[in-house]
Amino acid sequence: MEKKIIYLDHAATTATRPEVVDAMLPYFTENFWNPSSVYTPALNNRKVVDESRETIARSLGTTAENIYFTAGGSESDNWALKCTAEAYANKGKHIITSKIEHHAILHTCEYLEKKGFEITYIDVDENGILKLDDLKAAIRPDTILISVMFANNEIGTIQPIKEIGAIAKEHGILFHTDAVQAYAQIPINVDEYNIDMLSVSGHKFGGPKGIGFLYIRKGLKLRSFIHGGAQERKRRAGTENITGIVGIAKAVEIAFATMDERIKHETEVRDYAIKRILAEVPYCRLNGDAQKRVPNNINISFQFIEGESLLIMLDMAGICASSGSACTSGSLDPSHVLLAIGLPHEIAHGSLRMTIGEETTKEDMDYVVDNIKEIVTKLRTMSPLYEDFVKKNN
Ligand SMILES: *Cc1c(COP(=O)(O)O)cnc(C)c1O
Repeated sequence: MEKKIIYLDHAATTATRPEVVDAMLPYFTENFWNPSSVYTPALNNRKVVDESRETIARSLGTTAENIYFTAGGSESDNWALKCTAEAYANKGKHIITSKIEHHAILHTCEYLEKKGFEITYIDVDENGILKLDDLKAAIRPDTILISVMFANNEIGTIQPIKEIGAIAKEHGILFHTDAVQAYAQIPINVDEYNIDMLSVSGHKFGGPKGIGFLYIRKGLKLRSFIHGGAQERKRRAGTENITGIVGIAKAVEIAFATMDERIKHETEVRDYAIKRILAEVPYCRLNGDAQKRVPNNINISFQFIEGESLLIMLDMAGICASSGSACTSGSLDPSHVLLAIGLPHEIAHGSLRMTIGEETTKEDMDYVVDNIKEIVTKLRTMSPLYEDFVKKNN
């Protein structure tokens, strides 16, 4: 019998929905036309690009002219930061972000530091929520941008985006948010939250890989990110990724039509699994805020074990999970996010991230929790740290 795979890494990527693939297929073949061409068959592809842009705009409570297609979350983050820095450098060279951003933000900030910009990295509390007082205190006359992620990819924490947006607006500072983990998981309205720029990636919610978008509020003086043709209102050149655009729009349509039931289902399965693990496995803790978190995220640290060993043994049981973000897996440094919420290195090392999907059931999680219990017990019996701890406590 083929072993069932339980996929618990939806924050890393999701399967492209079959309806999305179906919608995309004709645009590889019979509808291959370049949307910028002037002959009749191509005109329909122009229309399809426009309609896709409108579908996406509606999902954020904005209009199509503010949506710019990109190749995904990393590109959108790079665009928002680098082009704001360039366009507003005459006003100031100070940028504020958080300590728990995705590397697409953090490494872009490091790049900007080398280019003469000054970056302030704001702390988060023990639940991973940005310290708003620290944010206010960090604002200077030369601050041009605040970039804080909507929801964290490791611990799932949702930030007080509305409050951050209000603070930015009050001080006349631009506000960007990496919403890759929040978009299509929870409702977002860019005007209500005073968001000036927002990054999204298609493959995190049932769309294809290699397509995403950046929302840019009308009136921002951001320059072209990619120079060339006049696509994306001359700000991001290159023949439109028509298949990707059709795909992401279809994924948006489905994700938003089913959002309420998905939130309800995933929250229930998530909380069921968390409750079981915390009750049945000794010496473990939930990372990230228990309430202010995206419906699909479970992140737990198990004392006295290595997260990597746990991952390997879960893999042997057909369970796909993650120990941190995909980018830090494979390196020995503990996750910067877990360190930022104050975990000591040895506890951060024993962490497990499971991100569920709409297809994940309580029965799946029963199998997963049973395996975690067994594996953690086994790993602890081999751990000298655990042995010392037991000796000391007897
Ligand atoms: C996945 C992810 C990205 C990168 O998106 P890609 O489309 O893979 O480039 C950026 N930010 C966050 C929070 C993510 O989870």
